[in-house]
Amino acid sequence: MPRTIPLERVRNIGIMAHIDAGKTTCSERILFYSGKNYKIGEVHEGAATMDYMVQEQERGITITSAATAVSWRDHQISLIDTPGHVDFTAEVERSLRVLDGAVALFCAVGGVQPQTEQVWRQSEKYEVPKLCMVNKMDRIGANFFTVIDEIKETLGGNPVMMVYPMGAAETFCGVIDLLTMKALTFDEESRGVKVIESEIPEEYREECERLHIEMMEKAAEQDEALMNKYFETGSLTNEEIMQGIRKGTIDRTLVPAYCGTAFKNKGVQPLLDGVINYLPSPLDVGSVHAADNPGLIRRPDDKEPFAGLAFKILSDKHMGKITFVRIYSGTLKVGDPIYNSTMDAEARIGRLFRMHANRQEALEEAYAGDIIAVVGLSKTRTGDTICDPKKPIVLESIEFPAPVISISIRPSSRGDNEKLGSALHSLAQEDPTFIVKFDPETSETIISGMGELHLEIIVDRLRREHNVECEVGKPEVAYRETIRHMVDGEYKHVKQSGGRGQYAHVCLRLEPQEPGHGFSFVNEVKGGVIPNEYIPAVEKGVIKAMESGPCGGFPVVDVKVVVHYGSYHEVDSNEFAFVECARQCFKNLFLKGNPLLLEPIMSVEVAVPEEYMGTATGSICSRRGRVEGMDDKAGTKLVRGFVPLGEMFGYSSAIRTVTQGRATFTMSFERYEGVPFELSETIIEKRKKEGKVR
Ligand code: GDP
Repeated sequence: MPRTIPLERVRNIGIMAHIDAGKTTCSERILFYSGKNYKIGEVHEGAATMDYMVQEQERGITITSAATAVSWRDHQISLIDTPGHVDFTAEVERSLRVLDGAVALFCAVGGVQPQTEQVWRQSEKYEVPKLCMVNKMDRIGANFFTVIDEIKETLGGNPVMMVYPMGAAETFCGVIDLLTMKALTFDEESRGVKVIESEIPEEYREECERLHIEMMEKAAEQDEALMNKYFETGSLTNEEIMQGIRKGTIDRTLVPAYCGTAFKNKGVQPLLDGVINYLPSPLDVGSVHAADNPGLIRRPDDKEPFAGLAFKILSDKHMGKITFVRIYSGTLKVGDPIYNSTMDAEARIGRLFRMHANRQEALEEAYAGDIIAVVGLSKTRTGDTICDPKKPIVLESIEFPAPVISISIRPSSRGDNEKLGSALHSLAQEDPTFIVKFDPETSETIISGMGELHLEIIVDRLRREHNVECEVGKPEVAYRETIRHMVDGEYKHVKQSGGRGQYAHVCLRLEPQEPGHGFSFVNEVKGGVIPNEYIPAVEKGVIKAMESGPCGGFPVVDVKVVVHYGSYHEVDSNEFAFVECARQCFKNLFLKGNPLLLEPIMSVEVAVPEEYMGTATGSICSRRGRVEGMDDKAGTKLVRGFVPLGEMFGYSSAIRTVTQGRATFTMSFERYEGVPFELSETIIEKRKKEGKVR
């Protein structure tokens, strides 16, 4: 069956916003106006379709959330879910990887908020073209123009006003389309479905004409031919303006800006028109290339070999494991054999779906540019490439930061042990930043994630979705260990106890690496003094030692380990002896290498009314933090700084108490830094007492 929607009419987009800006409401309206959703669910009624954590669960739909297909003016739009909380930046990165364009949503009162800034930066990193939508124009204090200025000043964007607001707050009644120069109002009875076009009211005419010319000039600047035409004739047609704005949007030299109120059903359709008029199709985005070979490419074309990226995994009660895949090239049919090139595993496509707001559409075939759900890829993880088995390619994976916080967890009733194990396993499969470990020495299950809230949500999902009530321990910081000096030395593992003995001898060199460089293992053994067959055992021993570091039992990072000399015994040497020998050698050397404990440093932004500014800066400084800057935002002071995660536990209630509930804050992982000496002594002492240093 051939494709029904040509590739140039496909849009894969996400909505990025600060929490509470109205993303859920706006997504709902998009589903509603595009006609695929039977009823508008208000967020406060708990029925919003895209909000899957709780509401969808209760309605029995768990799987529409990752990507929902809608159609608008003969275009197919995939709305890819991006989460609202900073704890989930990894989730944002994941969605930015697979979408081609985004709508940055702002609150007309709050404007550019800390998290919008962060997500904006991330989207620039992935070179994602954007539109801006200033929502909540009906709120008291709403001001489209202030937000436009903030987009310029704070985000460094180049916004082009595509609409002009008629009124603000309680007088907001619609928008003027600055391209067609028509006033648009939205019929209240049909909840805004009916858009009424009329002449521009006299009071706005002059200003709108000025902005129309400004738009024309910005469009002309995007393209030489348009610029020449504009110089010669002094004007451009509406088609030419659209062409220029489209080019500028895709080149990311400008951002078309809209405004409205999703909640009051005004201004959403012009935004949808903007999505299809200005955001890129997969054709505009172009080819993808292999991670390890920029010359090996896949074009967005059905005739190319199949290649796609798994970007989200969900487990559903009825369907089992569902993998969301972005297809970059080729086609995919039910029953096709596919190759997971990241994992080196073969699989077969069980079932294919396109997810709509309130139904799943089973597909026989999917095409380049599509975002679809696949059932039957049991081994596939988030970030894996799946491709044509005969034409393998590994696309760049999605990078996820390692977790920074851990808690121990156990079921409230002993009988639920097994249930908890399988529930945790399935949650970990969905979320690459959530890790589960069982510590056999202390018989504890430890879960780790990106922040306190992240783990709280996991525990809540265990209760709601898996019916396991749990008790959790105190949150603990995920420290790391590393060394600061190079060390070289040897160790002999010799055991003579009756019969056959054990013998292994290795010389290792440990070299500190730049932060973030991870672990590497190099074999420089010459002349077979350690036979090749034992080298993997040496590496295994080193890795084993690194899992639970010699200082405080924390994972060791950023060390290069070189094995360069040693010896063996014809009879007594074996794999086990070399594993043990390397482990012990690493441990001894590590402690001589001026070891250092590392702790996660969080970037913290606290918003407070002016009178609490001193309190906010004090709250950062007293937590071993440093203040990096202060901003003034619409009467609110914004204090930014860096604080060690270990000092941030309980911050949320502490800052609320000292500011009479007036402060809000966001926090996200920034980097690892060394722990001050005295504190690290205390931490290590405590770990030793708990029996966690072996
Ligand atoms: P999200 O956190 O970004 O998904 O935001 P929601 O869509 O959940 O909206 C947060 C709150 O703002 C809800 O109470 C909405 O009803 C409300 N809201 C959303 N859009 C608007 C709007 O255009 N105007 C007003 N006044 N409130 C809105």
